[in-house]
Amino acid sequence: MKYFKETLYDSICQEFRIDKLYFEHKTDLQHLMIFHNAQLGRVMTLDGVVQTTEADEFVYHEMMAHVPLFAHGSARRVLIIGGGDGGMLREVLKHPVEQVTQVEIDKAVVDMAKEYLPNHSAGSYDDPRLNLVLADGMDFVRESGEQFDIIISDSTDPIGPGEILFTESFYVAARRCLREGGILAAQNGVPFFQPDELQTTWKRLSPHFESAGFYCAPVPTYYGGFMVFAWGADDPSVRDIDPQVLQERFAASGISTRYYNPAIHSASFALPQYMLDALDEVD
Ligand code: SAM
Repeated sequence: MKYFKETLYDSICQEFRIDKLYFEHKTDLQHLMIFHNAQLGRVMTLDGVVQTTEADEFVYHEMMAHVPLFAHGSARRVLIIGGGDGGMLREVLKHPVEQVTQVEIDKAVVDMAKEYLPNHSAGSYDDPRLNLVLADGMDFVRESGEQFDIIISDSTDPIGPGEILFTESFYVAARRCLREGGILAAQNGVPFFQPDELQTTWKRLSPHFESAGFYCAPVPTYYGGFMVFAWGADDPSVRDIDPQVLQERFAASGISTRYYNPAIHSASFALPQYMLDALDEVD
């Protein structure tokens, strides 16, 4: 029996049994695998790192989509960077947005996810509101003249093509692409094992947003406990939005979820002490 061994850390790894291999290919940019595991359902990996699994993707995609969208309350134009598996797109399109621009660097990820991870995108790639752009997200935000209410950076980890999406120049360019009242949310790893990612993002992000911070959620296959999402906005009030307002927006939306709810939304900005201590170390 073959096993996928995740190689994200030097001295620790996790293995998933490969019950059926659907796809394995070295694209021009990344090593892409999609396989089935009895416990996790279909699993996608890029460059030896777990990207998403059918069993727990709802936590990650619901929290990265619904927290900024319900905090904003009237987003019309959304930018997703990365997100090739289509799960983020599926959740964003549950909101009454006018247009979603998705900028994905690797067409093969989209093509293979449509075919071998159909439950992630669940048809959202056919939604007429989608404008799919095959490009580097950094190039897009640097050169685009468009403005968005929400920008979601659903990238790989800061290794390989994803690295540039964790730079200060990316955050500056993304800030320029946000409309007044806009919100940036970006996947930012698992601080228990990657505290430097938390600290580095804080140093690079916080000077450019009036309201910067992190919120968290536990994604079981992202080994190490809570993962965090970076938050940047020009209006501090959208982060501390009245739970009653969130409740009204959530109820009115008719959106059904498995992880997100207004109480979890508000609570997710309360960070464990070890993360606060790591941030305190940043001068
Ligand atoms: N949920 C995953 C996680 O938290 O690690 C990420 C999901 S998604 C598979 C990551 C996507 O980012 C991939 O489709 C990858 O091709 C894309 N990506 C990586 N670097 C990129 C870049 N510079 N511009 C646009 N897309 C990028």
